[in-house]
Amino acid sequence: MSKRILITGGAGFIGSHLCETLLNQGHEVVCLDNFFTGRKVNVKHLLDSSRFEIIRHDVIEPILLEVHQIYHMACPASPVHYQFNSVKTIKTSVMGTINMLGLAKRVGARILLASTSEVYGDPLQHPQKETYWGNVNPIGIRSCYDEGKRVAETLVMDYHRQNNVDGKIIRIFNTYGPRMLFDDGRVVSNFIFQALRGQPLTLYGDGSQTRSFCFVDDLVSGIIKMMEKDDFVGPVNLGNPNELTVKDLAEKVIKMTESSSKIDYKELPKDDPTRRQPDISLATEKLSWTPNIDLEMGLKKTILDFKRRIELGSN
Ligand code: NAD
Ligand code: UDP
Repeated sequence: MSKRILITGGAGFIGSHLCETLLNQGHEVVCLDNFFTGRKVNVKHLLDSSRFEIIRHDVIEPILLEVHQIYHMACPASPVHYQFNSVKTIKTSVMGTINMLGLAKRVGARILLASTSEVYGDPLQHPQKETYWGNVNPIGIRSCYDEGKRVAETLVMDYHRQNNVDGKIIRIFNTYGPRMLFDDGRVVSNFIFQALRGQPLTLYGDGSQTRSFCFVDDLVSGIIKMMEKDDFVGPVNLGNPNELTVKDLAEKVIKMTESSSKIDYKELPKDDPTRRQPDISLATEKLSWTPNIDLEMGLKKTILDFKRRIELGSN
């Protein structure tokens, strides 16, 4: 059945892919964004559809809309962007999530919160399972994001227990793909953009820290499966367990872009997590979901997208 679906942060990287997929599935999609890190061009190709609309709105202000489902994605995700105005970031997570849960309660909508692997902080358990409570610095430079998302998770659980709101929580691990901003600041987009322009790749620390990267199409299919699953609040990890060091990633990007770029070692930012890898057995059991696009294939698609945009002179 066709539903009316609100996607907050719908003009951003992941949000725009979600808008596209849900529109292709025949739903009505309302994309809500304040355009901080999102861009109209990400959803420009959807504007011809009579089932698609965009609203410029900031989630820290309440809004009333009649919808069946809410994908609550609004929040800057790159450390560079979420640290730019840290007070605004925490307001977005806390007040924004209260407003969206209030909306869900009022109109009886199902709501899915995009939380993050950052709730595990610099994890002392490896790989990370949903049962792990995390190792988060509450007063550091990443706290506006990490603690903001932890409060957002608490809010979903409390609205669920207290007000019967049909809430769901996903914990997204590092995701990459087409449409990431050139100046997004996250590692995959930085490395690809630098390699394609023959600039040195900025490697923070000695590059031995690890991440596990998921291609955006895989992630979107997991997000939608979670939304459609009845009687399961989560939280559930969504990510690709293929772990590698950031240095290995730099070398892979240089090779795949056939770049002459060298590596430029920079200072490691404070509180940068040492290791990160999702345990996705819960997602596999409950949602029958596993990612199937490997890093080579995902990077190939992302590099092609970046090349095309650089040639067009667009971001
Ligand atoms: P993004 O920065 O590309 O997208 C975020 C979107 O939210 C942007 O369009 C931005 O303009 C919008 N936004 C920010 N603050 C807003 C506000 N106050 N009101 C309305 N809109 C606002 O980031 P993304 O990678 O697409 O991330 C989307 C969601 O997924 C975020 O909630 C993020 O925390 C979560 N997440 C992403 C990753 C990842 O690796 N990409 C990992 C973990 C969690
Ligand atoms: N990183 C890096 N060079 C960059 C950007 C990031 O070496 O230009 C490192 C960063 O220090 C971290 C990892 O890559 O260890 C992933 O960083 P990102 O900002 O993409 O995501 P997060 O730290 O939030 O997982």
